[in-house]
Amino acid sequence: MAKIAEKRKIKVVLVEDDQDDAFLVRDFLNDTRFLDCQLKVIANFEEGLQEILTDSADVYLLDHHLGAGKGVDLIAQAREAGITKPMILLTGNDSPEVDQEAQKAGANDYILKAELNTSILERSIRYALSQWEATHIQEQLLRESLLREEAEYREAQWQLISETIPYGLWVTDTDGRVEYVSYSFLELLGLDLKEIEELNFQDLLVERLREKWQQTLASGKQWNEEMKLTGPDGDEVFVLSRGLPVKDEDGEILQWVGINLDITREKIIDQRKDRFLQIASHELKSPIMSILSSLYILEEEVTAGKIETGTDYIKRMKRQLKNLTQLVEDLLDLSKIEMEKLSYYPEIMNLNEVVNEVIEDLNDTHGHTIKVAMDADLYLRGDKQRIRQVLVNLINNAIKYSPQADQIEVKVKGEGEQVTIEVTDFGIGIPESELGKIFGKFYSGESLSTKDFSGLGLGLFLARKIVELHRGEISVVSQVGKGSTFTVVLPIDNGD
Ligand code: ADP
Repeated sequence: MAKIAEKRKIKVVLVEDDQDDAFLVRDFLNDTRFLDCQLKVIANFEEGLQEILTDSADVYLLDHHLGAGKGVDLIAQAREAGITKPMILLTGNDSPEVDQEAQKAGANDYILKAELNTSILERSIRYALSQWEATHIQEQLLRESLLREEAEYREAQWQLISETIPYGLWVTDTDGRVEYVSYSFLELLGLDLKEIEELNFQDLLVERLREKWQQTLASGKQWNEEMKLTGPDGDEVFVLSRGLPVKDEDGEILQWVGINLDITREKIIDQRKDRFLQIASHELKSPIMSILSSLYILEEEVTAGKIETGTDYIKRMKRQLKNLTQLVEDLLDLSKIEMEKLSYYPEIMNLNEVVNEVIEDLNDTHGHTIKVAMDADLYLRGDKQRIRQVLVNLINNAIKYSPQADQIEVKVKGEGEQVTIEVTDFGIGIPESELGKIFGKFYSGESLSTKDFSGLGLGLFLARKIVELHRGEISVVSQVGKGSTFTVVLPIDNGD
C-alpha cells in the first residue's frame, strides 16, 4: 500500500475583523489536502501588528480592510520591521491598484474574497511557503557558511599568532585554571597541551608567589611578577609574568589574560656580570699586590745592601705585569667587540712560525710538555696578532685546566682550502651541560672552584669572536676527567 504523505503542520495567523469571513477561512483551511493548519485569528490592526512582530507563525493572511487600517500597511510595517514570512492579502476588491499596493508593500500574493476556496487558499499558501523557504534557506546556509568561514579564519589567525608570538600568552578562568596558552609558553616550560589541560596557573608558582596570585585573583588587580620556573631540561627559567583581568560591563571578572616573557638570558648575563666583577677585582688586585710586595722587598734589600741583584723579583714582577696587561687587553677587546670595533689587520702569515712563537713565549707551562705535530709550510691569510691570541687562550686554558697532567698536544693540519688547529689536554674536562655555554661572554665554569681556577670567562668568548672574524669555526669535544680537545678550522683565504 502506498504511503500517504503526512500533512504539513503550519501555524497561520489571520488578521480579519469580519467574523463571518474568519469562519469561512477557518473552514477552508480545515479542508486543505496537504496542510494541517493551526489557525489564530486576530480581529484588529494593532493586535495583528503585535502578533506579526513576534514572528511566530509560518504564514500571515491579512484582510485588506481592517477598520481604519489597511492590510497592505500592516504588511509594509511588518516588512520594515524585518519580518520575512509569507503574507497573503485577502481583498474584496479586484482592482489594479490593490494589486500594485500589495506588491509594493511586500505581499506574496493576494486573493479575491469572492474567489476564495480551499484549493485557491491552499495553493497560494503552499507556493508562498516554498518560495520563502527557497530564498531563506539559501540565505541561512550562506550566512552560516560565512560565519563558519569567519570563525575558521579567526581560529587560523589566532593559531598563527599563538604559534609565532615569542611571548607565552595565557588565559585562565577566574579561579586561575588554565584555559589557553600559546605555543611558546609550552615551549618555555617544556610542557605539552595535555599537561596544561588540568593545570592551575598556581601549580607553576613557588609558595611565595602562589599566595600573591591568590591575592591578585581576589583583588582583581594587575599581576606583575618576576618568577623563577623550571625549564624543559630542569634548567632555571626566569620569566616576567604580567596579567590583567578581563571584566564584563558590570565590572565582574570573566577571565585573566597575560603574557610570560622569557628574561632568562638577561638574568644570566646579569648574574655572570656580578660574578665577573667579583673575579675581575680579585684578578686585578692579586698581581698588583704581588708586584707591590716584590717592590717592597727589593727596596728593603737594596737599602740594607743585602743583595747585589734583584733578578728573581724583577722576573716575578714582569710575569705579573704580563698577566695584568693580558687581562686589561682582554677587557679592552671585549669593549671593542661590544662596539663592533675589534681590530683586524689581515696579512699572509706562516702559521708554523706563529705556533712556534706562541709556544716559546709561554709564560708558565706548570710543568707541562707541549707536544707539537704540524704539517710543513702552512700559510694563511689572517690577523697574526689575533690568531696568536686564540692560540694563547686555548693553550693557556689547556695548561690551567689540566693541573694533574703533564702533556698538552697541539696539532696543525692543512686540508685543501683550510687549516685545522687542535689543542688537546688531559685534564678535568667539561660537563656536557656546560659545552654550549663556554664560548659565551663572561662564562666561567659553574662547577669550578674560583680558588683553583680563576678566570674572567672571556678567553673563549674572544677566541670565538676572532675565529668568526676570520670566517672560521671553533668547537670542542670533551669528557669529564679525561680532557678536552678544542678545534679551530680557518679558511686559508677568507677573502677579506
Ligand atoms: P676562564 O678560563 O677565564 O674562566 P674561558 O672563556 O677561557 O674563561 O673559558 C670558559 C670556561 O670554559 C672556563 O671557565 C672553564 O670552565 C671551561 N674551559 C675552557 N677551557 C677548558 C679546558 N681546556 N678544560 C676544561 N674546561 C675548560
